[in-house]
Amino acid sequence: MRVVVLGAGLIGTATAYYLARAGHEVVVIDRQRQAGLETSFANGALLTPSTSDSWAAPGTPQKILKWFGQEDAPMLLRLRAVPGMIGWGLRFLRECRPERWEANTEAVLKLALFSMAALDRLQADEALEFDRNPPGLIKLFRDPLSMDSALRASALYQRLGVDCTALEPDGCVAVEPALRPIRDKISGGVHYPADGSGDALKFTQALAERARALGVSFLFGHEITGFSTESDRVTAVETNQGAIRGEAFVLALGSFSTLLGRKLGLSLPVYPAKGYSITVAAPGWNGAPRIPIADDGRKVAVVPLGDRLRVAGTVEFDGYETRLNSTRGRMLVDGLGDIYPDYPREGRIEHWSGLRPLTPDGRPIIGRSRWRNLFLNTGHGPLGWTLAAGSGLAMAELVAGNSPSIDLASFSPER
Ligand SMILES: Cc1cc2nc3c(=O)[nH]c(=O)nc-3n(C[C@H](O)[C@H](O)[C@H](O)COP(=O)(O)OP(=O)(O)OC[C@H]3O[C@@H](n4cnc5c(N)ncnc54)[C@H](O)[C@@H]3O)c2cc1C
Repeated sequence: MRVVVLGAGLIGTATAYYLARAGHEVVVIDRQRQAGLETSFANGALLTPSTSDSWAAPGTPQKILKWFGQEDAPMLLRLRAVPGMIGWGLRFLRECRPERWEANTEAVLKLALFSMAALDRLQADEALEFDRNPPGLIKLFRDPLSMDSALRASALYQRLGVDCTALEPDGCVAVEPALRPIRDKISGGVHYPADGSGDALKFTQALAERARALGVSFLFGHEITGFSTESDRVTAVETNQGAIRGEAFVLALGSFSTLLGRKLGLSLPVYPAKGYSITVAAPGWNGAPRIPIADDGRKVAVVPLGDRLRVAGTVEFDGYETRLNSTRGRMLVDGLGDIYPDYPREGRIEHWSGLRPLTPDGRPIIGRSRWRNLFLNTGHGPLGWTLAAGSGLAMAELVAGNSPSIDLASFSPER
């Protein structure tokens, strides 16, 4: 079967790879010049089932209201974005009820665990290099109150089978010695030994190479503008370079899935949630950390990536705007200094922003659309790196007409 995959980010590339491995003829279309150059470019680098909790949580609406208009708020809703997200926002509010939060978190966690197992197999099969760190993540707390509420969240994870241990400050330093300089400033942490981390861009590009070796053609520099259809089927994707025909199509355009989906009458609840990262060069730094630290107080995570440090975080609802904002960039630089006061300051800092494709319930959309041969693999929000291998594998199984190795009912477009 000739399958056309729309989008060469983490999700589209993983889907294309698994489709090719199953023996299909695969074409991937992307407007950029290489794979992974949009949201998958410089994300937080965490492979983190332990962060499956949906953002639509009890307490989130109050936080958004409290932080409204504050330029340095961890989650910032801009007034100009409000008219364009009313429907999405009302659905988000409905998902903040405790029982919805728990169900959504559990659904995403199952996919995350499935995905981590798929990623491990993939890395072993293909010998992929992507600056993967030794396993483990510490979530760090600065005051006893937030530590208590984190312990409640970790209880949910433990109940769902995720291994984690509460740590005193000395325990944090024992697991990650680079935290020694701030030992007296922290209340403790929770260690998730099975979480991981690595460079999503390196992974995407290495996987694209393997896919190419399996026969996948990548059509870069192709802007998708619309579709041709016949009765209940899509027959071709229209691009600025002409039409690309196929027998099946997989829409994996991140936040832009919503805009292109509209051309087919689909109303996809995916809204861009902007985030920022900095990548700091730290070659030869003796005190460099080994594993990622997520700082609850600062709402940032710091991840070692080879001889660099990646710091990511913050959320901003501002439509499709990706311009850098100096206040929000500075929040990340300050966050890094708060965790590692001795980090080498002479290193070059690269600033970046990207659009997390967020659904109101935090679950990605993985399934067949109401067009019989159009499949959706989108809406992976803040967890697309963690969910990529599993989502690609499950989607390839679905397109082939096989029963996916994970139940996709929770991710169905009709849910
Ligand atoms: C600041 C930040 C931190 C993050 N941290 C983490 C993390 O630590 N762990 C984690 O698991 N996830 C993280 N994420 C989330 C993760 O990066 C995303 O979920 C993931 O990158 C989404 O992948 P995607 O393939 O769906 O989208 P994308 O990577 O955006 O891919 C979509 C592709 O579609 C193409 N495209 C779009 N429109 C068109 C068009 N009209 N024509 C042709 N091509 C088009 C784009 O060029 C792009 O290549 C983070 C995200 C951000 C922003």
